[in-house]
Amino acid sequence: AGTRDGLNWPRAQALAAAERASYIARNPESARLAGQAAQHLLFGVPMHWMNDWSTPFALTVREASGARFRDADGHKYIDFCLGDTGAMFGHAPPPVAQAIARQAARGYTAMLPSEDAAPVATELARRFGLPYWQFALSASDANRFVLRWLRAATGRSKVLVFNGCYHGTVDDVFVDLVDGVPTQRDSLLGQVHKLTDHTVVVEFNDLPALEAALKQGDIACVLAEPVMTNIGMVLPQPGYWEAAQQLIKRHGSLLVIDETHTISSGPGGYAQAHGMQPDALVVGKPIGGGIPCAVYGFTEELARRVEQAKHDAPPGHSGVGTTLSANMFAMAAMRANLEQVMTEQAYQHMFALAAQLAEGLRAVIERHQLPWCVTQIGARTEFQFAPTAPHNGTLAQAILDSDLERIIHLYLLNRGLLITPFHNMLLVCPGTNETDVERLLSTFEDCVGNII
Ligand code: PMP
Repeated sequence: AGTRDGLNWPRAQALAAAERASYIARNPESARLAGQAAQHLLFGVPMHWMNDWSTPFALTVREASGARFRDADGHKYIDFCLGDTGAMFGHAPPPVAQAIARQAARGYTAMLPSEDAAPVATELARRFGLPYWQFALSASDANRFVLRWLRAATGRSKVLVFNGCYHGTVDDVFVDLVDGVPTQRDSLLGQVHKLTDHTVVVEFNDLPALEAALKQGDIACVLAEPVMTNIGMVLPQPGYWEAAQQLIKRHGSLLVIDETHTISSGPGGYAQAHGMQPDALVVGKPIGGGIPCAVYGFTEELARRVEQAKHDAPPGHSGVGTTLSANMFAMAAMRANLEQVMTEQAYQHMFALAAQLAEGLRAVIERHQLPWCVTQIGARTEFQFAPTAPHNGTLAQAILDSDLERIIHLYLLNRGLLITPFHNMLLVCPGTNETDVERLLSTFEDCVGNII
């Protein structure tokens, strides 16, 4: 009695109360700013989910650089959240800072290409192995536009996604399996269309279910992360993607790989690192060093079909693109980031630290005999509250424990360590060092030591 996730739950709750009190005492300036913000910011924060962290009120950031930031009360932090990937290569990387400072006096947006556009596309083609590219302002938008192009190009209406996926605020994919039945995610606000009419959902790692769905012949594309990263982490089983890709091809469907998080796998993402051959690929968040932008690429064949779809459509609004997409400012940031920041060398540094982090977390878990596991995808590491890694979204969902996450996250935060909210993800960047990782590990061990 009283145990949960292998921990002493009454002790965990006592720790939670103490950590909340400590946070309030430690952060008077953030508290004052939160009070002021509450007068005119809906939910008291500029983005409603900034209020859903583990803290009693939002922590206000004063400045961020590399792997570190400072809050409004002057406390220093080592950042393992890194803007949930937006700052995956560190905050304000100097080459990006210099490029946007240069561009700051040269114009931001003209509805015309800048001189950076062609070099950026050339580099994307080299890195990701897809010849044709377009831009958007967010990964959400990029995914939305890709779905639109691919439905138009194939003349098929349906998309297939994996249970428990997240691809941004793309309404179409807010569909889950509930007791095996496709069901619109009821957290989605204000959606009046019946999403299950055009969205098919199956479990990840379930080839027969994928095949049965594809056989219907009406699926334009499968939209997937190569590793699920938004419901904890779910790895593909050996051989899964090889077989899945064959099925998708055989049934005349297309594969869109969303690398927005799995870009942690290497300079060309997971698909390049693992020999996958998607028809389309999306990357957002860190592609411009944290400046709002996203990219999507197509194979030669798909590019021709997409061009044909536009050619065949009557003139008018396409539903693809926004006015500021591919703006000159974002293009300058992407060019600097791709050429000078997201380098092979940066990744080698990040891989070594992530391995140190993952091994260290496993050692803590083992020393305290916790029924938890650790998964690592390049520079991205996740600990999960189950002895073995889940192999689909239903299992991954079942082991999430937001109460426990919040306790651990707040304990770390009060000691100058930030990790990603809403699950247990840690990123390392070129500015992270071994001492930072050791500090995370020893503080994590103190935390679990307090609640067993
Ligand atoms: N794709 C994936 C895999 C993501 O994890 C996210 C955001 N977490 C998005 C797309 C959407 O990114 P954004 O919120 O920047 O549009």
